[in-house]
Amino acid sequence: MALTGELFIGRERRETPRKFPAFDPASGRSLEPAFSAAGSAEVEAACALAHAAFDAYRELPPQRRALFLEAIAKHILAQGEPLLQRAHSETALPLPRLEGERARTANQLRLFAAELRSGEWLGLRVDPAMPQRQPAPRADLRQRKIALGPVAVFGASNFPLAFSVAGGDSAAALAAGCPIVVKGHPAHPGTSEWVAQAITAAAAETGMPEGVFSLLNGPGTELGATLTADPRIRAVAFTGSRAAGLALMGVAARRPEPIPVFAEMSSVNPVILMPGVLGSSAERLAREFAASLTQSVGQMCTNPGIILALHSPGLQTFLDAARTALANITPGVMLTAGIHRNYTQGVEHMLAHGAELIARGEAGDAENCGRAALFSVPAATFLEDRELSEETFGPASLVVRCATVAEIRRIIERLEGQLTLALHMDEADQPLAHGLLPALERKAGRIIVNGWPTGVEVCHAMVHGGPFPATSDGRSTSVGTLAIERFLRPVCYQDFPEALLPLELRAAELLRWPHRLDGERRLAKPG
Ligand code: NAP
Repeated sequence: MALTGELFIGRERRETPRKFPAFDPASGRSLEPAFSAAGSAEVEAACALAHAAFDAYRELPPQRRALFLEAIAKHILAQGEPLLQRAHSETALPLPRLEGERARTANQLRLFAAELRSGEWLGLRVDPAMPQRQPAPRADLRQRKIALGPVAVFGASNFPLAFSVAGGDSAAALAAGCPIVVKGHPAHPGTSEWVAQAITAAAAETGMPEGVFSLLNGPGTELGATLTADPRIRAVAFTGSRAAGLALMGVAARRPEPIPVFAEMSSVNPVILMPGVLGSSAERLAREFAASLTQSVGQMCTNPGIILALHSPGLQTFLDAARTALANITPGVMLTAGIHRNYTQGVEHMLAHGAELIARGEAGDAENCGRAALFSVPAATFLEDRELSEETFGPASLVVRCATVAEIRRIIERLEGQLTLALHMDEADQPLAHGLLPALERKAGRIIVNGWPTGVEVCHAMVHGGPFPATSDGRSTSVGTLAIERFLRPVCYQDFPEALLPLELRAAELLRWPHRLDGERRLAKPG
């Protein structure tokens, strides 16, 4: 398939006079073709189609939407090597990493298809009428969850497949019954076009209404703001910087009818090295840490950006071994020249704020290489300077040397909300870990024991969320099947005649789905 650079507005492919290029970050050269930039006319057309499709799409039997999601996965996989090659050219992410990401993308689409068939997400509850109840009768009350409406999805730069056009946010919204208007990330427009092709082919094959999907591309903040402000958009899903997330939250809040923004923004994912394990396994921990820190050139939202440990000989061994490990890791090219610039400035910022440089990785030959950096500060300095706890997006991390356990506690209390907090510990460390747990729970969406934060399993129990600024709404997750909840809301039907009830709340159909009858859990009847 040749790329055309056109926008996808429902079934229409549209070219606009305003164009922007894609770049290869490894060479700085522009890539063919030039891409059309969407303006307000394209936002208008995509939102009108999404709005028109909404009622038909959300009322499709769950099985139909499941088949649509599975068809998207099939078409993405069928695109084969050229999709991976294009993603590689636009992001400099290595091909094996992109292959893994493509598998994750297909698997999460299939996981949401299975979730649709399970019916758990419908949240069916029935409290039958009690006409004889004294002193007052009870009405017949039935509840289900329905889709919120069209969702604006922002593709993330650091996951061009798994968190972009057909990524986790899109899969969750489409599963919930929400048409999506995607604002593609301007750093990988060709990859976005390939995936948009797969979605439109799947929509045609499975008979989805026009308007279930549109892709708008374009650089600059205006497009995302216009899309978020459109009255037909009912929710926003975003992954990126805190500044952009906050800007979109502001636009959404200022609308005449404000809407939820599910933004995943900024997290430094602190890792606590407990005294027991640091005494016995410092070198192993340092090697594992260096691998986690430099995975995908540190461009992971779960990158271990802060290490907390008690000042000790074990910590010194850890720092020495980390220096050796980082020196041996070949640096990769970062996603964009802008991200590389921000990273370089972030490293300088740490130095300017008094952090001691412990180790630097190799510089690398190509353009925009992300050279690893490890810093250290005493806890007292860290506690005095809030800016030291801010995210530096890339392979940089700060070891905070604590004199006492009380200092570790004080730092945890000072932390902003995080996607993850990790503890490395052995049995002797358990009482200390037990004592820290209530504070850790208040701060993070996922707490890890003896593991590193990078690598997020897509499953039912995963939480990829956390209090602000990790996300804009710590009650949800953007990874895993629970992510569908963000795009649903409950509706109660009181005293409805059977024929007027939504299908799944009618007596015969209800048995096919898990539900609560008068508060009691009932499983779906097989068959
Ligand atoms: P970004 O700047 O947050 O941009 C993400 C998306 O939001 C892009 O489509 C961008 O469009 C749009 N956008 C940015 N500012 C906006 C605004 N004020 N109003 C409306 N839309 C806006 O993220 P990025 O381009 O991926 O990388 C830039 C920095 O973000 C990185 O250096 C890093 O610090 C951070 N980042 C963090 C994570 C994480 O997981 N924590 C992930 C990715 C990036 P345009 O680019 O067209 O303006």
